[in-house]
Amino acid sequence: MKHLLIALVCGAAAAVAAEPRPLVIAHRGASGYLPEHTLEAKAYAHALGADYIEQDLVLSKDNVPVVLHDIHLDTTTDVAARFPERKRADGRYYALDFTVAEMKQLQVRERFNAKTGAAVFARRYPSGKAPASYQISTLEEELQLIAGLNASTGRKTGIYPELKQPTWHRGQGRDISKAVLPILARHGYATKADLCFLQCFELTEVKRLRGELGWQGRLIFLIGAGAKEVDGTDYAAQVTAEGLRALAGLVDGIGPAISRIVTWDESGAAKHTGLVARAHAVKLAVHPYTVRADDLPKGCPSLDALHAALFRDAKADGVFTDFTDRTKAWVDAAR
Ligand code: CA
Repeated sequence: MKHLLIALVCGAAAAVAAEPRPLVIAHRGASGYLPEHTLEAKAYAHALGADYIEQDLVLSKDNVPVVLHDIHLDTTTDVAARFPERKRADGRYYALDFTVAEMKQLQVRERFNAKTGAAVFARRYPSGKAPASYQISTLEEELQLIAGLNASTGRKTGIYPELKQPTWHRGQGRDISKAVLPILARHGYATKADLCFLQCFELTEVKRLRGELGWQGRLIFLIGAGAKEVDGTDYAAQVTAEGLRALAGLVDGIGPAISRIVTWDESGAAKHTGLVARAHAVKLAVHPYTVRADDLPKGCPSLDALHAALFRDAKADGVFTDFTDRTKAWVDAAR
């Protein structure tokens, strides 16, 4: 039994060690081509060969983790037309005020500006043209889809769930982490050998995940482009050598905004911060966000220049991308 256990542990560790680098992480699915976070966008990302597929998670009224980037429903669905009376005083429609059954009545669209109705990304899937079958899905539904596609294709595509706004959820009397962890465990995502990276922007919650909640799987601390997170996390202090050393005892890697790794001047010259090297010095993986072919960082001359800066020059270990195929083509050529 002991030998079997050792063999299992070694085998699992070897499987993770053999993962390709850098990792192609499908940001909200193949969101460059289909409305974000729909099962269609996830299936397409799987087909395009993503190594990991991302799930942003918020809670429904009936406390079910659903796959949505925002705590609001009004920038990706027709909620304002379908349930006009259900907005809060601030004029917004909150996922937390709708049951899963109610959310299933909503039609998901390409992301748009709630005030003007204009598409956020003009050249993507036509806003308002998605068929009514494009729905919000629960975390469990998406995990079933990915497991099914892994079985039918023989691929091993991992998951990359993000706990959205734990402090806000707590203010509403909810605990997003406690709702999500048992579902991950039930679907086989519980240890560092499992193909799962759990991610969060709030350092207080990251510490809680490792402490009180006992998360044993891989954990990524996200680092925003701005100075502070809503829970008070001071990002500038985290990206120093000292800050990273403290993080190394807690997480497996960081997910910084691209601007924390590299920026471009007016002439198109890249200026590197050295963050990836500092993180690697304390054995932290670095998965920056987000590569968008139709929304390059300011001054960045091309998608190729962006990939080269992140992977060839900075040596990032993976990246969140809206365009799985184009990032995968770059890394496949470099692998
Ligand atoms: Ca995310």
